[in-house]
Amino acid sequence: MEYKDTIVLALGGNAILQPGQRGASTEQMENVYKTCMQIAQMIKDGHRVVITHGNGPQVGNILIQNSEGAGKVPAMPLDICGAESQGMIGYMIQQQLANILHDDDINVPVVTMITQMVVDKGDPAFLKPTKPVGPFYSKEYADERMKKGEVWIEDAGRGFRKVVPSPTPISIVEIDTILSLIDSGCVVIANGGGGIPVIEEDGRYKGVEAVIDKDFGGERLASYVRADTFMILTDVPYVYINYRKPEEKALNEINLEDIVKYQSEGHFKAGSMGPKVEACRRFISNGGKNAIITSLDNALLALEGKAGTRIVR
Ligand code: ADP
Ligand code: MG
Repeated sequence: MEYKDTIVLALGGNAILQPGQRGASTEQMENVYKTCMQIAQMIKDGHRVVITHGNGPQVGNILIQNSEGAGKVPAMPLDICGAESQGMIGYMIQQQLANILHDDDINVPVVTMITQMVVDKGDPAFLKPTKPVGPFYSKEYADERMKKGEVWIEDAGRGFRKVVPSPTPISIVEIDTILSLIDSGCVVIANGGGGIPVIEEDGRYKGVEAVIDKDFGGERLASYVRADTFMILTDVPYVYINYRKPEEKALNEINLEDIVKYQSEGHFKAGSMGPKVEACRRFISNGGKNAIITSLDNALLALEGKAGTRIVR
């Protein structure tokens, strides 16, 4: 196929699992099917698409399975659970997207790349873990793990949870392979969950107990791929200033200057819209042309400039 441009699509949590759902395979497949209907349309419209996605709920569920089954089979560390989630979500997208494309006689291969993301072992985030992961445990269990050097917090009266660092993603170990798969005509799914965080030690990679923000990881992918458009799909159609206040205003287009101003005024919440806007800012600062934040339903309209928030230089 001849493509007119390249889009790196970062799918938010609700593209795979909706709020209130427990995460049954049928639920996730159905959501992925609906998401893939939109992605297939982009491909039919002539866009080359590279896909990345979040994995928070999925990796959370895998951690529960590991914890509950620990008496029977050894529990896996966080990096391996992350790899499992990439495989699981990648499989669902591979199957659903290829089925839909095949219905239209478009036979492009869809392939998932298990992706490692290099982080700096001196990243200050390692000194201050912030991201809760996995199930809730008792105080006794938390105390025991803390003696082994882990960091645990009491999470809003619901019990104790392990917290891990969220370091800045730097480079993608598998980037050359990803680029050659894209060049050879594959629809590539890569860097799921922001990538599996690894550090480099004596010329070797080693998984670490950390999580990478999928929006920041998506920016790395979009920049390396030299995407024309970095598109973050979430559950709101626009980025707003004064979000959920009487003077709330949807933003159609923002430039780097606006972003810095709005960031300093605290309009974008840390942990949700904050990293998305910052990821787009980084993409444009690194030479990207255009970034979009919108909802899945508005994705096609946004590509025509008729919806969503566009981030420009
Ligand atoms: P995803 O799974 O797609 O990463 P998040 O929940 O992390 O989703 O981020 C999307 C959420 O960000 C929205 O549902 C919205 O409630 C929240 N949000 C916070 N600040 C803003 C803002 N200024 N404009 C739009 N949404 C915002
Ligand atoms: Mg998020």
